[in-house]
Amino acid sequence: MNASLIPAINFDLHASEQRVPEEIRANLLESPGFGQVFTDHMVSLRWSTDRGWHDGKLEPYGPLVLDPATAVLHYSQEIFEGLKAYRQDAGPIVAFRPYANAARFRRSAARMAMPELPEEAFVQAIELLVSHDREWVPANSEQSLYLRPFMIATTAALGVGRPAASYLFLVIASPSGSVFAGSGLRAVSVWLAEGYTRAAPGGTGEAKTGGNYAASFLGQQQAIDNGCDQVVWLDAVEHRWVEEMGGMNLFFVYGSGQDARLLTPPLTGSLLPGITRDSLLTLAPDLGIPVSEEAISVEQWRAGCESGEITEVFACGTAAVITPVGEVKGATGSWTIGDGQPGPVAMRLREQLLGIQFGRLPDPHGWVHKIA
Ligand SMILES: *Cc1c(COP(=O)(O)O)cnc(C)c1O
Repeated sequence: MNASLIPAINFDLHASEQRVPEEIRANLLESPGFGQVFTDHMVSLRWSTDRGWHDGKLEPYGPLVLDPATAVLHYSQEIFEGLKAYRQDAGPIVAFRPYANAARFRRSAARMAMPELPEEAFVQAIELLVSHDREWVPANSEQSLYLRPFMIATTAALGVGRPAASYLFLVIASPSGSVFAGSGLRAVSVWLAEGYTRAAPGGTGEAKTGGNYAASFLGQQQAIDNGCDQVVWLDAVEHRWVEEMGGMNLFFVYGSGQDARLLTPPLTGSLLPGITRDSLLTLAPDLGIPVSEEAISVEQWRAGCESGEITEVFACGTAAVITPVGEVKGATGSWTIGDGQPGPVAMRLREQLLGIQFGRLPDPHGWVHKIA
């Protein structure tokens, strides 16, 4: 169906009468951390088999009341997104590529047998929340308002013969510094998950669903127990092909200076298709850095660092933008990448991406979406 034929969803406005007072908000915005402080409102929208999308609202942020038999609590039928709104230096508040998140949310819904929210409605919900809570978008550069749209199965019944018949879509917002704030931009150390897997062929690895995270916490804990910051996931079949780092995609830099080129593992179905990954695959060639999507094994990673052919490795995602990787450890050995410090290609791409997001650089690909 032509998108223009889909009627816009109506959201009733129930503005909060107990907004956080201005001085307290200003205090919270000084150092918000990541995902700990929430704005005054949330947006909600329901879906049921008989009514489709209905009951759209902007309402005060607050707890949900759920029947203990609610499907999501038992069978994890849940999907989410993560994107940011920025207060640009010149004034407007913008979101970065919200239609890309909307499209991925639909693909995640399809994989999890959930209803697909029209992309316009997804963006409409975000715009509504950000415009009502605009004073929560930090003015401080490098801080932003992290948006978390998500959907849960709300049918209260324990039968598992079919997907749930009712769902709740919500958007909440959290003023945030970088996820790794406090560590500055130091390079992280990673642990190779040789015993656990995050996602397998035919599984849910390319859907943004909470269950993938539930399955990954023990591997992340093992990384910490081994003195590392983050876990790196390998493919589920041969346990040798590099997939992702925690909740971020990975890039490998070969060569340096004029000869630098980038490699990132291909989207085989078990990797999450990151929007930051996709953006860098476009931005790097703009800067004269060639890119390729090719599989890389643990042995190739190690040999490449030992020969000096691989000069940098970094991870990327919405929350932390770009995080350099300095050191790799695994059951069978450890090695350092370059000099173990953040490298020039990672830093240049990071500046470029942040420059576009904060409006300090031109936006040739039309990624920035003006909200208010
Ligand atoms: C969200 C996510 C990413 C990064 O995606 P972005 O769209 O760049 O934020 C990477 N890996 C996993 C597992 C994720 O959940």
